[in-house]
Amino acid sequence: MNNIIKTMIISAMMAAGTGTATAQQKDEFKYSDERFADLQMLRYKVEGFEQLSLKQKTLIYYLQEAALWGRDILWDQNCKYNLQIRKILEQTYTNYKGDKNDADFKAFEIYLKRVWFSNGIHHHYSTDKFEPGFSKEWFKNNVKCSDEIVDVIFNPKVMAKRVNLAEGVDLIESSACNYYDNVSQEEAELFYANQKAQGDNAHPVMYGMNSTLVKENPVKTAKEGNGLCAPQIKEVKWTTSGKYSESLKMIVKYLKLARPYAEDEKQKEVIDKLISYYETGDLKTFDEYSIAWVENTEPLIDFVNGFIECYGDPLGLKCSWESIVNFKDLEATKRTETLSQNAQWFEDNSPVAKEFKKETVKGITAKVIKAAILAGDLYPSTAIGINLPNSDWVRAEHGSKSVTIGNLTDAYNKAARGNGMLDEFAFSAKEKEIVEKWGDLTDDLHTDLHECLGHGSGKLLDGVDGDSLKAYGSTIEEARADLFALYYLADPKLVELGLLPNSEAYKASYIAQMQNGLITQFVRIKLGDNIEEAHMRNRALIARWALENGRGRESAGSVGEPPIDVIELVKRDGKTFVKINDYDRLRKLFGKLLAEIQRIKSTGDYEAAKSLVENYGVRIDSELHKEVLDRYAKLNIAPYKGFINPVYKAVKNSNGKIIDVKISYSEGYAEQMLRYSSKYSVE
Ligand code: ZN
Repeated sequence: MNNIIKTMIISAMMAAGTGTATAQQKDEFKYSDERFADLQMLRYKVEGFEQLSLKQKTLIYYLQEAALWGRDILWDQNCKYNLQIRKILEQTYTNYKGDKNDADFKAFEIYLKRVWFSNGIHHHYSTDKFEPGFSKEWFKNNVKCSDEIVDVIFNPKVMAKRVNLAEGVDLIESSACNYYDNVSQEEAELFYANQKAQGDNAHPVMYGMNSTLVKENPVKTAKEGNGLCAPQIKEVKWTTSGKYSESLKMIVKYLKLARPYAEDEKQKEVIDKLISYYETGDLKTFDEYSIAWVENTEPLIDFVNGFIECYGDPLGLKCSWESIVNFKDLEATKRTETLSQNAQWFEDNSPVAKEFKKETVKGITAKVIKAAILAGDLYPSTAIGINLPNSDWVRAEHGSKSVTIGNLTDAYNKAARGNGMLDEFAFSAKEKEIVEKWGDLTDDLHTDLHECLGHGSGKLLDGVDGDSLKAYGSTIEEARADLFALYYLADPKLVELGLLPNSEAYKASYIAQMQNGLITQFVRIKLGDNIEEAHMRNRALIARWALENGRGRESAGSVGEPPIDVIELVKRDGKTFVKINDYDRLRKLFGKLLAEIQRIKSTGDYEAAKSLVENYGVRIDSELHKEVLDRYAKLNIAPYKGFINPVYKAVKNSNGKIIDVKISYSEGYAEQMLRYSSKYSVE
């Protein structure tokens, strides 16, 4: 109640334009920004940046400049017309003198915002070309450009899909991405098969990852008079002296400026190798860089800058440019360290039968990082984890870095808070309050328990094959880790370890688990479809098993407990809600199911795994499914999300030396895109 009143006062003051509102607003970080088409823009908070040393801030500053300078590489990789079209659209947008409330202009603005978001004229996810909402006539009247460009924008047959994976056609020819020039799929495949055959098989480089493959037209040679040479297929490398040289030179410039501020000698070596690779394009150097990078685990600050993922190429060879600069989340890492140190206690006290427990268990310390900047193929739409490098042999011989990006997950969660889901699906104000108060904390702890302890607990009996559960294996494994987390979230040990503030907070995770497993996760599934994905099956399995096994008499485990339903599905005004009647007994049910699931895993009981998953984890009641989809549709939540970056400003003294770096979050979406285009463009 108090919160609602406070919010009303603040918005009233803001409307009146009084100064006091700004002071109060300061700690109210705005996670959600504008929404258009199928997109919702968000912001992430780089908490802890201000507390870094000047040296660390300076390192981040130069690395984020190096990150932003790669933007145009990706635009060109995505389609050869992208940069030209962006320029035309931005000029029109900035200089438009007509009525900005005009329907065509409004549609044009949305088109431009979508193009910005996708780093080109194709949808970032489906890779289909955008259909303009404005008329060709309006465009021709207001924009000066060639007929070719008009055709690329308006003709649905031209450059229709960025990455075509359909069978039976030439994938290169039918894809609009710009990794091959005048080369057929067959020619490209043959070219790289030859490279591979001649290369080092034990330590193969990632052939073709940093070049455009081109076929040069037959040329007349002077010597032989009128004879024609056979067409030549060759790679044009992406280096400081090859293709994308202007952008790469700027990236190298800022990497060199960052180098003196590196946190240790090894990190300097990482930067040196990366520069050398950008200069030569040598893929062996890239592997050396990857090894140095994966072994450089000490520094607080880390970064990725390069040609990394190959989803943008239908042949999966060419890598798109991306960058992220980040630093370790020390607080979150401390949390996972606490759990890790107490791993044996958790193993010894779990409700699992003794013969299935590990005598000695070692917890994993999960690494959580905070993104400081997102760029290239990680901006604005981004990943929430990093698992690199991609080279198989480097991973096998030198390991990989696997981290979650905590401040992005946090931003997604915080932004989702106001989207109406909780209002729509919470049984009452009481549940809503608990989730709002403790949901973020218990979400994090749930993940920590799941990852650091859950997956690592328990053991297989001697002679049991780890694959005996076959197709049901991953659902059972996820359920095991989730149940371990759920069981312990309600344990007084977590309060004792200082991980939870009181013995009530865990209820947020029980509400979330039951609501999600029984109702809300169905919004991600098409009506008529079954649950397929392992994590979703696991959530449904746990929630429905608890619902069924917590009914009436069956729930009354100990003598004297009245036969009530531990959980109920309540119908109100045609809407279904989850009501938890007894949290203690729900915990006992989680413990009981954990013991059974561990038994199934430890003994490799395929039939039991199959029956649990098929009975509880797969099907959706179609009437309930339809109801949930209808309720969700009314909330009008955007299916895709992306981030606006913070802005870093270097404060310099009269000698040009950086004396501080300031971070701010007030830049608007269009403002940011236009600034990037003017400041980080090499044309
Ligand atoms: Zn898992």
